[in-house]
Amino acid sequence: MQSESPLTALKGVGPALAKKLGKLNLFRVDDLLFLLPLRYEDRTQLVRIGELKPGVRSLVGGEVLLAETAYRGRRNLLVRIDDGSGQLTLRFFHFSRQQQAQFRPGVHITCFGEARRGSSGLEMIHPEYRLLREEQNAATSDSLTPIYPATEGVQQGRLRSLTDQALQQMRDTPPPELLPATIMQKLGMPSLADAIDYLHRPPPDADIERLLAGTHPCQRRLAFEELLAQYLSLRNLRLLAASEDALALSGGNEDVSAFVAELPFTLTGAQQRVVGEILADLAQPHPMMRLIQGDVGSGKTVVAAIACIKAIACGVQAAIMAPTEILAEQHWRSFSDWFRPLGIEPAWLSGSQRAAARRESLASIADGRAQLVVGTHALFQEGVEFHRLGLVVIDEQHRFGVHQRMALRDKGVSADGHPHQLVMTATPIPRTLAMAAYADLDTSVIDELPPGRQPVSTVAIPEIRRGEVIERVRAACASGQQAYWVCPLIEESELLDYQAAEASYTMLTEALPEARIGLVHGRMRASEKEQGMRAFKEGLIQLLVATTVIEVGVDVPNASLMIVENAERMGLSQLHQLRGRVGRGAAQSHCVLLYKTPLGRIAKERLAVLRDSNDGFVVAQRDLELRGPGELLGTRQTGLPEYRIADLVRDAELMPQVQITAEELRRSSAHNAAAIVRRWLGDAGHYGKV
Ligand code: ADP
Ligand code: MG
Repeated sequence: MQSESPLTALKGVGPALAKKLGKLNLFRVDDLLFLLPLRYEDRTQLVRIGELKPGVRSLVGGEVLLAETAYRGRRNLLVRIDDGSGQLTLRFFHFSRQQQAQFRPGVHITCFGEARRGSSGLEMIHPEYRLLREEQNAATSDSLTPIYPATEGVQQGRLRSLTDQALQQMRDTPPPELLPATIMQKLGMPSLADAIDYLHRPPPDADIERLLAGTHPCQRRLAFEELLAQYLSLRNLRLLAASEDALALSGGNEDVSAFVAELPFTLTGAQQRVVGEILADLAQPHPMMRLIQGDVGSGKTVVAAIACIKAIACGVQAAIMAPTEILAEQHWRSFSDWFRPLGIEPAWLSGSQRAAARRESLASIADGRAQLVVGTHALFQEGVEFHRLGLVVIDEQHRFGVHQRMALRDKGVSADGHPHQLVMTATPIPRTLAMAAYADLDTSVIDELPPGRQPVSTVAIPEIRRGEVIERVRAACASGQQAYWVCPLIEESELLDYQAAEASYTMLTEALPEARIGLVHGRMRASEKEQGMRAFKEGLIQLLVATTVIEVGVDVPNASLMIVENAERMGLSQLHQLRGRVGRGAAQSHCVLLYKTPLGRIAKERLAVLRDSNDGFVVAQRDLELRGPGELLGTRQTGLPEYRIADLVRDAELMPQVQITAEELRRSSAHNAAAIVRRWLGDAGHYGKV
C-alpha cells in the first residue's frame, strides 16, 4: 500500500515500542490500518447523570460537590459530582494525595466509566476523568472511540494516536482501489480507504450492533479483500503446480483392473468416480494435487491403494503417510494384505523404529526395492532418500496445513519432477469453507457409504442418568462387544483433561469390577497411548476410557458402543468424528451423548443435529451455522489459513463471490490480483508467485 515505512517512521515510536508492537504483528505503518478495533465506546455525547444506565459505559460531566476519604475495609476516595440532573459518586481505591487535592468543590470534570448501583446511589469505580479549566466546555469526541486489541505495555491512547497518524497518511495518499468497480457496485461495498477510515473512527451515529457483530458493510469490504487475497495466493500455488513437471503415469491399467477385481467387495459408485478422477490426473505430465473428502468409513483407503497400484505399475515409488503411528500401522496392515499377493512388499518407516530396521528400510527405499512406503512424518525427515517417488498419499490431511503440503511437495522432487499428491480427509467441511481452505487443491468427494452400513443410533441423555448408561456398558461388555468412554475435552489443559479421564476411569473400574478397562489420555507418551489402543484393538481391553486423543481413523470393528461425557462442550464435527469410531462392524452401534443440565438452546440444537444425522457434511454445515461469531474453526483442525479480519464462520457466505471475483481479476487484471496478494500477505507470507 502507500506506506510501507517501518513503524519507527511515526512520531513517538522508538525501537522499544516498535518491539512491543511487533507482538501484535505490527511492523509497517500500513499494518496499523488493518489492526481493527475490537469494540467501540461512545464518548461522543455527554450523558445526563439523571439518565445514566447502570452497566453502560458513558461519558458524564459535572461539578465536584465534595471529596472525602472513607474507610470501608480499605481507604477509598469518594468524589461526589452533580450536573443538575442528578448526582454521581466516583470511587477510587488507588489515589495519590495530589489527585485527592485536585477534586476541590466547584471544579468541573468529565469522566468516563461504567455506572453501577452502589451504597450511595449511582457510582463509577475508577473512571477515566479529566479536569476542565474555567469556562472550558466538556470535550466530546467526534467519533466513537476505538478499543484496540491490547498488548502489554501499549496503552489504548498510544494505539489511538498511532492509528491517527496512519489514517492521516492514508487520507493524504489513499491506497489504490484494486477491486473492479462492477463488483463493488454489485456488492454495495465502500472503497477500501473509506472502509478503513470508518472502522477506525466510526461516526457518532454508526450502527454499533452491526460493528460488534462484524457484519457492517465496511467490515465485509475488508474481509472480502482478505479472503480474496488468501484465495488468490492458494490458487497461485495450484497454477504453479500446473506448470511444473511430473511423470505422466499412463500405463498399468490392467494391474488396476486386476486389483479391483480381487477386492472382496465392489467399489461404490462414488469410489469409482473418484478413482476415475485420480487416474485422469495421474496421466498428466503435471503433479496432481487432489483432495479426497469422504466421511468416516466411506472407504478412502482402498481408493488410495488403487492410486498406488497405478503408480507402481508405471515403475515409480508410492508413499503413504499418516499422522500417527497407529494409523500408519493400520495402513501398513491393509496395504500389506492387498499388495503382498501381487509380490509387492511395503517398507515401513516410523519414528519409534529400531535403528537396524530403520537402516534397512532406508536402504530399500533408496535403491528402489521398496515400491511402496508406509509411515508417519518420519517419511519426510532428513536422511530419507526416495527412488523415483511418483506419488505421495497423505491421510487425515486436516492435521496438516498448506505449509506442510508445500514442504512435502518439495521434499519429493527428483529429476522426473514433482511427485503427484493425494490428500485425504475425513473432516467434511462445508463447500464454502472448502473453497477457502483447499483452493490449492482439486477436490473429489466420496459422498456414499459402502452398502449395508447401519447408521450409528445416537441419543442424548442428561448426566444424572449416568447409572443407566453404565448398565448399558456392562451389558455390552458381557455380550462380547467393546465400548469407548470418552471424557470431556478441557480446552488447553492436558492436565485437567487427564484428571477428568482418570476420575472416570476410577469410577468405572469401581462400577464394573468384572470388565477389563483401559485408559489413554493426552499426557501419556506416544508409545503408551499406542499400547493402550493396541490392547483395545486386539480385544484385551473391553472398555477404553479415553480423552479425545483417540484417533480419527482408528478401526476397531468390534466396538459398537460409545459414551461421550460432557458432549455439550464439544464441537459438532468433533463429536461426529468421535462417533465414527463405532459403527464399523456388522452390529448395530450406539452413541450416547451425556450432557450436563441445564442445556442452552444452541447446545440443545447441536445435540439434536447429531441425533438426527449421520452425514458428516450435514453435520459440518449445521456446525458452521450454529457456532457463534468468534468461535472460529481452529486452524489446527482444518488447515485453514489464519486471517487478520475475516472470520470464516461469519464470512463464509462471501466465498462464492470471492471465487468468481478471483477468476475475473486473474483474467482481466492480473496486476491487481498480484497487488491484492501482496497487500494482505506481504512477500514472505504468500505461498506461490503468479
Ligand atoms: P475411511 O474412509 O474412513 O478411511 P476406510 O478406508 O478405513 O474408511 O474403510 C472403512 C472400511 O470399509 C474398511 O474396512 C474397508 O475395507 C471397507 N470398504 C471400503 N470400500 C468398501 C466397499 N465399496 N464395500 C464394502 N466395504 C468397503
Ligand atoms: Mg481412513
